[in-house]
Amino acid sequence: MRILMIAPEAAPFAKTGGLGDVVGALSREMAMAGHEVRVVIPAYGSVRHRDGWAPHPDPVAVHISPWNTLFCRFWTLNPPAHPAPPSAPIFHFVEHNEFFGENAIYTEPRRDAYRFAFLTLAALDFCLQTQWHPDVVHAHDWPAALAPVFLNTTRRGTALGRAASVFTIHNLFHQGIVPASLMEWLRLPSWLYTADNLECFGALNLMKGALYHATKITTVSPNYAREIQTLEHGCGLDPVLRHRAGDLAGILNGIDLAEWNPAADPHIAARFNAADAAQGKAANKAALQHALQLNPDAGIPLFGVVSRLYEQKGLDLLADLLPALLENAHMQFALLGSGEARLEDCYRNLAARFPGRCAVRLGFDNKLAHLIEAGADFFLMPSRFEPCGLNQMYSMRYGTLPIVRATGGLADTVEDWGSGHGAKTGTGIVFHEFNHGEILHAIHRALQLYFDFPPEFTALRRNALARDFSWKKPVAAYLNVYAEALKSRRGQGAATPPA
Ligand code: ADP
Repeated sequence: MRILMIAPEAAPFAKTGGLGDVVGALSREMAMAGHEVRVVIPAYGSVRHRDGWAPHPDPVAVHISPWNTLFCRFWTLNPPAHPAPPSAPIFHFVEHNEFFGENAIYTEPRRDAYRFAFLTLAALDFCLQTQWHPDVVHAHDWPAALAPVFLNTTRRGTALGRAASVFTIHNLFHQGIVPASLMEWLRLPSWLYTADNLECFGALNLMKGALYHATKITTVSPNYAREIQTLEHGCGLDPVLRHRAGDLAGILNGIDLAEWNPAADPHIAARFNAADAAQGKAANKAALQHALQLNPDAGIPLFGVVSRLYEQKGLDLLADLLPALLENAHMQFALLGSGEARLEDCYRNLAARFPGRCAVRLGFDNKLAHLIEAGADFFLMPSRFEPCGLNQMYSMRYGTLPIVRATGGLADTVEDWGSGHGAKTGTGIVFHEFNHGEILHAIHRALQLYFDFPPEFTALRRNALARDFSWKKPVAAYLNVYAEALKSRRGQGAATPPA
């Protein structure tokens, strides 16, 4: 199958969070399963001109509208002329100085709508120009949400018209709500400006457009697929998602087992596997304490966080609780993250107040992220909502017990110490309601597990290390969705304006 992925991020080239990890790993796993996969992302200033990049010989003409053609350059990694059969995805990077010249992946929403509409059209027009016609166009999150819309309208009559579209919601909270002038720039047909297409209270909602136009929709965990159909988690789009429920699948993300492998991780201090986890974890804990200037203490439970600092993650509530906890409980806390200024300030102050017991690093640091996963005893994710969450899976892979709220993919992946078979199958601590009391109770349970139940703590760690989060099942599930999408697309007539 020929698969075109369009996304704003793909690891290892450009990443702010889980979306980048998933696009990088899923495309690679699909290619390894024998499919011809191409990924189109912008050549942001920060990823430009890597070794092995080859420029496409001709400029690519992007037909924004019948009256407006812009040109860009495509750079390719692993060019198709390579003699080996395709077993790796081909990455295309779109270079356009005005749209993607700066280092940042995201700028401000209004401008991003234009940047990513351009990316999407560039991807489609490049396929047309090079006569590489995908069977499936897989669009990721709101930045690529116009792909299904273009395939049903302005590109419907082209050689791409038979391509099925699959749209993946990585986070429903970010929908790309932008001024209607974008439609004029793109000269999209006016019938799209209705509530069951793109229109949303006088503006455009790009995510909504994708939900109506994609052949199939997926999201990143089965539980989140259920949740987003409810008023509470639907972010205003729950009616559309219920309407499309028959075409919506929740597929749990896998993790990149090569990148996140404690037995071969170049970023950590001591490599380990399930058999020598106790020694390996202890060595990494000591290294983490040293790296972050925490007091060296093998016997103190160390709680870690690696996260974007946004309201979604529930770290505001955690920050309220930490002063009393660090004052009274025997524990250490290490956070790596960046995001909202008020949260950054809050955690910076906390670190200043509790030197040796609380360490905070603001910024993006992949190496430290790995060391925290390896060296911490517990990993905190008290999220308000969490479509899938990858860090809890990385944690389990490194024998670090996640403390999570039972929302979205966190509920699908972490089994509570106290539920079902307890220490026989538990892999972490799970709490349910989003409030201070529940988070505090969960942390107290973790402390209790660590100090009062060492054999159970070891058993949970063993269970966590044994969990399988490979891409094998998710890839099979995506291929199934692609096959269904193709079947329904090829049996379907052209999109027509409503009478
Ligand atoms: P989200 O996609 O909502 O940010 P996920 O848990 O799905 O959350 O994925 C987060 C990914 O981003 C993980 O790979 C995590 O290690 C990484 N990450 C987040 N913040 C940082 C940071 N400050 N430094 C390094 N890696 C980070």
